[in-house]
Amino acid sequence: MKNRNVLISGASVAGPALAYWLHRHGFTPTIVERAPALRDGGYAVDFRGEAHLSILRRMGILDDLERARTGMGSMSYVNSAGKTQAKMPADLFAGDIEILRGDLARILYDATKEHTEYVFGDSVASLTEDADGVTVTFERGAPRRFDLVIGADGLHSATRRLAFGPEERFVKHLGVYCAIFTTANHLGLDHTGHAYRTGNKLVAMYSARHNTEAKAVFYFGSPELDLDRRDVARQQAILAEHFTGNGWQSDRLLHDMRQAPDFYFDSVGQVRMDAWSRGRVALVGDAAYCPSSLSGMGTGLALVGAYVLAGELAAARGDHRVAFARYEQELRAYAEGCQKMGDGVAKLMVPSSRFLASALNRYYKIMPYLPGKNMASKMARKTAENITLRDYTGGDAPRRPSSPTGSRRAR
Ligand SMILES: Cc1cc2nc3c(=O)[nH]c(=O)nc-3n(C[C@H](O)[C@H](O)[C@H](O)COP(=O)(O)OP(=O)(O)OC[C@H]3O[C@@H](n4cnc5c(N)ncnc54)[C@H](O)[C@@H]3O)c2cc1C
Repeated sequence: MKNRNVLISGASVAGPALAYWLHRHGFTPTIVERAPALRDGGYAVDFRGEAHLSILRRMGILDDLERARTGMGSMSYVNSAGKTQAKMPADLFAGDIEILRGDLARILYDATKEHTEYVFGDSVASLTEDADGVTVTFERGAPRRFDLVIGADGLHSATRRLAFGPEERFVKHLGVYCAIFTTANHLGLDHTGHAYRTGNKLVAMYSARHNTEAKAVFYFGSPELDLDRRDVARQQAILAEHFTGNGWQSDRLLHDMRQAPDFYFDSVGQVRMDAWSRGRVALVGDAAYCPSSLSGMGTGLALVGAYVLAGELAAARGDHRVAFARYEQELRAYAEGCQKMGDGVAKLMVPSSRFLASALNRYYKIMPYLPGKNMASKMARKTAENITLRDYTGGDAPRRPSSPTGSRRAR
């Protein structure tokens, strides 16, 4: 086997899932994560369909996910007085298993920490490739050599910027911004959520951690803004400009946002690339083919991408040229299907006009009585299942970590 020594940038979903499969195929993964420690909490993400579930089963973590699932029921669209106008089925939002992103990251970390070197609090600073490998410099740690480098560092991937070029070339803004943070469950929501839509704005609240807290979510339509992603004060000011006096719980949630421990704000974007690899560097998950946070597909796609990339590397006995090309052949149509979902959902969640928004609100009201009421869930499931996964393991059983301690190393 060639090219065993692999650096992965990013410890969320794609990174640890890739590390799991690489180890299982005989490679030695190292993960560098910019955050100082594993990022807990966050919003709810989901898996749906047999392709996703079969990978989780093969990894031996399906039961862990089942135990940590959010158990959410239907989601209600409400009017300004909080009265339910329409109910969306749980399946549409929560898939087969819905879980908080941080809980998922923890399960993946636990399944990999024993055989993966984790380096927290650092980031790749430069990549210099030669015939035998890649010299990597870091923002904090000493330079190191790796055979291959994989960017699993999300929508704003540093690996992509270093190896392929500036973000503007690859990230397409879908005309929507999103904010999300943890707040008190002051509405007493019981495994459910409420959403309130006015024109091209949507504000929602859903219960989390078995009703002990809630997530506040804001979406609004806007052309791309010139923003520093670290400038939280400005992001909060923009949100306040759009939602003050917007009705329902908007003002209360804007007030709570100032105390939120985990305020998240970003544009809703997709990553479109002609190639997902260059030389010894490849991308996986959102870094390569983010379908957008609105698609409900990003987490499953990241998992499938990691499975296929590691599997193709094993099948090619580490020959990255063969493996990276096969990875794209196997995955591109699937990723494009997920991105199509992302496009469609963005238009539905944040319609371009007030007229369209009120037509949609009316449609949602009568939807449960129409023959095509489950069409959206069915489409999402079909998209998520639209891949035939190869079995790269030769049928060997999942390997579980045997000790609670890992090789975590923080610089
Ligand atoms: C608000 C919101 C709601 C969402 N809802 C859903 C949903 O309902 N269903 C669904 O399937 N998906 C959902 N998603 C999408 C989902 O979160 C992503 O598609 C999925 O997490 C992709 O995983 P990833 O590992 O590729 O990237 P990410 O989860 O973005 O992880 C990237 C990791 O890389 C790290 N990193 C970043 N830069 C560096 C660097 N320079 N060096 C080292 N590490 C770095 C980050 O800290 C992070 O840990 C949602 C996303 C958002 C933002």
